[in-house]
Amino acid sequence: MHISDDSAGHDGEHAGSALPVLDGARRPLVALAVGLLSCFCLLLAGLETWSAWHAYRAELENSRVATANMARALASHAETSIKLGDTVLAEMVERIEHDGLGDGATVRLTRRLQEVAGNVGEVHGVFVYGPDGKWLTSSLPRPMQGNNFDREYFQYHLLHKGRGTHVSVPVRSRSTGAWILPLSRRIETPDGSFAGVALVTLDLPWFGHFYDSFDVGTNGTILLALDNGTLVYRRPFHDEQVGMDIRNRTIWQRAMRKDGSGSAMLMSRIDNVERLFSYRHLQHFPLFVAFGEAKDDILADWWRGTLQTGVLGLAALLVLAWGGRILVRQIRVRERLERDLRRAGTALQRHNASLQNLADTDGLTGLANRRMFEERLVREYERARRSGAPFALVMADIDHFKRYNDSFGHLAGDECLRKVAGAIADGTRRPADLAARYGGEEFAVILADTDLIGANAVADGIRSAVAHLDLPHPDNPGGRVTLSMGVYVGHPALAERDDPLAWVDVADRLLYEAKHAGRNRVVAREGHAAAA
Ligand code: GH3
Ligand code: MG
Ligand code: MG
Repeated sequence: MHISDDSAGHDGEHAGSALPVLDGARRPLVALAVGLLSCFCLLLAGLETWSAWHAYRAELENSRVATANMARALASHAETSIKLGDTVLAEMVERIEHDGLGDGATVRLTRRLQEVAGNVGEVHGVFVYGPDGKWLTSSLPRPMQGNNFDREYFQYHLLHKGRGTHVSVPVRSRSTGAWILPLSRRIETPDGSFAGVALVTLDLPWFGHFYDSFDVGTNGTILLALDNGTLVYRRPFHDEQVGMDIRNRTIWQRAMRKDGSGSAMLMSRIDNVERLFSYRHLQHFPLFVAFGEAKDDILADWWRGTLQTGVLGLAALLVLAWGGRILVRQIRVRERLERDLRRAGTALQRHNASLQNLADTDGLTGLANRRMFEERLVREYERARRSGAPFALVMADIDHFKRYNDSFGHLAGDECLRKVAGAIADGTRRPADLAARYGGEEFAVILADTDLIGANAVADGIRSAVAHLDLPHPDNPGGRVTLSMGVYVGHPALAERDDPLAWVDVADRLLYEAKHAGRNRVVAREGHAAAA
């Protein structure tokens, strides 16, 4: 193929380069969509998790404050109750030590004890024991028999000279069988020797009623215990737990710390329930209270809310993922269509180019045809006018070709034409040159930007190349196929505008001169215009 057509080349380049740009821009779109959607999903999940975590912490903190307040209130209540008993004890001891226990004094004292026990709900009973442990008087309506020498509090005061109130471990009352918490003080004679024990017993069921009046949830607990690790009362109440040793329990260890109050999430060994405990030590007595709310109860609402928002969030994520999938699929379909379209476009361009090629090419020789030659001739003429460069046109004709046909036949003639055309094409190597079959056994060559010397050299090179093809032609002088050529070199810029096709006639005339001068030669001339 010896045709080079600038415009076709440029069109092909445009079509080939514009689409890859689109392709490059479109490709990251899928990645961008996937990335954005993934980021959004992650953000949503992150927000959901963060808000759930925040609500979880807030729920626990609120409960910590509530249980701490509750522990403070319970400690205050226990403190007040024990102080009440302590006040009663102090009054009794003062009275006995001052008035003694003569008949009249005992009657008055008994009446006072009954009054106290009757009016104060927490007080189960008030008792006075002599130095031998015998009951001297009590708040009970009937006279009592028996001896309490063996009770822990009696032995304590017998051995300890301290005058303060002693809080004992809870015991069952020998008079009523109810659980009681004994508070006691030592009674002394004026010389300081042991004269007996005054005892106030607090009613544990009364504490129980008070503790039961609070809403602590299904698994909440309240406990009251002594510093020595003895459990006094625990809600929910179980008889066998009263007096239990809880020294190995974390709640006791924490309550015994210096500050005596605080909160902690602890697992109960009694019922294996995890609770948020708040505990507080009594200010003036060796006891502490603890209030515990089950973690499951605290977090029940949180779980409900979190599950609800979780389900909603999950639904939103699913919708988003579903929408995203459709979006990505759409983009992919579009990309595929675009790719197919591009391929079809490229195939079409190729097809068009080959059609164009067919339309511009001579079927026998593969050189440009006459239509193409004339088109190019006009273009090169205009270009030469603009640039001021010289411009050469070569017309070539095979010598005595009719005879060649007559000698070898038309098919051989065609083959000869092909070979001569190949030699002409080989002789015009510059991209701007164009070799064409003008018609029959006549050829034309356009040499842009070429002066007389250059054009003559090219033409003679072609002539010589044809002669060297060494194609036998018995009816031609020399016995070989030869070529005669007319070369016209003009300067279109230096003359009036004329018809570029008229240049063909000028070159043809020179060709004719070459024929007349004996053929197998080049006649070249330079001028300004075809009319010159
Ligand atoms: P001259 O040297 O004066 O050019 O002599 P000529 O015989 O070549 O000139 P003429 O124009 O009289 O003859 C041209 C011949 O070229 C006529 C025809 O037989 C032959 N010819 C033209 N076109 C073709 C072609 O396509 N194929 C073949 N085989 N021969 C062709
Ligand atoms: Mg001829
Ligand atoms: Mg001819």
